[in-house]
Amino acid sequence: MARYKGADCRLCRREGSKLFLKGDRCYSDNCALNRHNYAPGEAGQKRPRETEYRTQLREKQKAKRIYGLLEKQFRKYYEIANRQQGITGENLLCLLESRLDNVVYRLGFARSRDEARQQVRHNHIHVNGKRVNIPSYRVRPGDLISVAPKAKDLLTIKDALLFSESKGNVIPAWLEVDIEKLQGSVLSLPTRDQIDLDITEQLIVELYSK
Ligand code: SF4
Repeated sequence: MARYKGADCRLCRREGSKLFLKGDRCYSDNCALNRHNYAPGEAGQKRPRETEYRTQLREKQKAKRIYGLLEKQFRKYYEIANRQQGITGENLLCLLESRLDNVVYRLGFARSRDEARQQVRHNHIHVNGKRVNIPSYRVRPGDLISVAPKAKDLLTIKDALLFSESKGNVIPAWLEVDIEKLQGSVLSLPTRDQIDLDITEQLIVELYSK
């Protein structure tokens, strides 16, 4: 599946907020936003005209970039969310959070969603004891996500666990982790209040409903 291959920090600078795309660096003084808190490019320091469309577009771009998706993939999630019962914006965030790469990241087995995606692609992650190498795989309540036996000693996973520990091992309430066994369970699907993202999902819905 195609994905953005440019510099991650440019995306944060474009959105004017931290999207936490690079793991440890995002929490350090080296975060690009600390040094260049303006959009990239020649016109980056000019103040853009605020319009309703621009606000909605930026919110959608922010969400899309946090989860590392391209427009077509993101739009598909919106369409599924729109067909589901309930509030479309909340459905959309729930679908995005339920992606396997996001869950691996949330469990603390990777320092960023990008790193989690690589782990899934490289067959380092099992779901219910079976290898799953599709980052967009949608987890369900009761699923057991584990690090494959051959990947348990990988430096990248050990580093991620240390990183998670340094941040206090904060695991969302809809997930449960067993650090010793390197596995986690999906207790339920996430509710909006369990998704700590600074996103106004209603703006995304308004943009796509035009
Ligand atoms: Fe964004 Fe992280 Fe880069 Fe800071 S270091 S600009 S939060 S990706």
